Amino acid sequence: MTTHLKRVETVRQGSADGRGMVLRLTTKTDVEIYVIAVPPDNDALTGPTWSYLFKEDALTLIDPGPTGSFHVLGEGIQCTGYKIKEIERIIITHGHADHDGSVAQLVDESGAELWAHDIYSHLLPFDPRDIQLRPTSSIKQEMARVVAAQGVMLPSSAARHSYLARRRRLEVNHPIQAMETSGSFTFFQLPGHSPDHICVTFDGLVFTGDHVLPEISPHPTMKTQYAPEVKQGMPARYHDENQSYGLARYLRSLKVIVELGEDVGVMPAHRLFNKNKLNFDSALRAEAIIQHHTERLGQILERIGNEPASLESVTRRTFEHRKLAGRNLFAALTEVVAHVEFLEDAGDLEVTEDGLLRRTGRDNYHRIVQEIAS
Ligand SMILES: [Zn+2]
Ligand SMILES: [Zn+2]
Repeated sequence: MTTHLKRVETVRQGSADGRGMVLRLTTKTDVEIYVIAVPPDNDALTGPTWSYLFKEDALTLIDPGPTGSFHVLGEGIQCTGYKIKEIERIIITHGHADHDGSVAQLVDESGAELWAHDIYSHLLPFDPRDIQLRPTSSIKQEMARVVAAQGVMLPSSAARHSYLARRRRLEVNHPIQAMETSGSFTFFQLPGHSPDHICVTFDGLVFTGDHVLPEISPHPTMKTQYAPEVKQGMPARYHDENQSYGLARYLRSLKVIVELGEDVGVMPAHRLFNKNKLNFDSALRAEAIIQHHTERLGQILERIGNEPASLESVTRRTFEHRKLAGRNLFAALTEVVAHVEFLEDAGDLEVTEDGLLRRTGRDNYHRIVQEIAS
């Protein structure tokens, strides 16, 4: 049980990882929050997306879930006694397919207002993958080389094309601004896991999307540089990509959650229930994630050793307990690149002309994380 809620009840039982499950949480001020597990349409290790439905001033749903799982969301909503048509507000925590995959369908069927980070609609015309993978630095060029050599390029499926096409037609009715308060909600723009991530506090809880998760460490974005067509038409306040991407940005955003303190309970978009148990954390969970990345930075420096090492070998040494191939290898590479970029900016390593990683002998990263996180 958790001290952040008055009651937790199971409306519908599910499997060990929560598939099929519907919960009813009662907040300290007696607001009933329904939580619906919406499973992914692939074998993603993150498990189902947990979609939250409750009545504040308007009936609100946070994160409808993955593409192709709209019917599961619909069945879940039926269990709550509400109808899809009654939903008045949809909040998207960020623009990943396991969160906004079925939003177009939900908007069509409910007529609800769509709320999302102000930058979300500016990024909608583009494929987030194209933005992230532009090889605009030596390390990202090296990553592109490894990806091509290993043939781990992600498939460009028809389902993904239609997801992106549906997204492009979305209209955000309420672009969420930094530190915006609306009724009992306070919104925070917290990029890092994605450029358009928001978290929202309500009644002693914080809905964290993928920014803060129990059990697992969310993936940080790599630094990026927008192509001219992305920057065109985007407000100047978003032109500095370091304010929206990269590990340093992610750590700064984690710090905001840490500051909410242990009295605030985390309502995550994944792993709320897993291995037959509920995972209720306080906002201090964000501290453990900062710690995880600090350790990983040290680990990567260690894995490089005294001689220049290739990105691929450092990645394989960092994840030596896993068999890296295909999508796994791709995820591991992007994770290592995000940390390499941080270490490069810290002055702890250099990327040589041949794309190798070489330590400089300095260990500034620790102090820099401290400066960001304390
Ligand atoms: Zn995500
Ligand atoms: Zn997710």
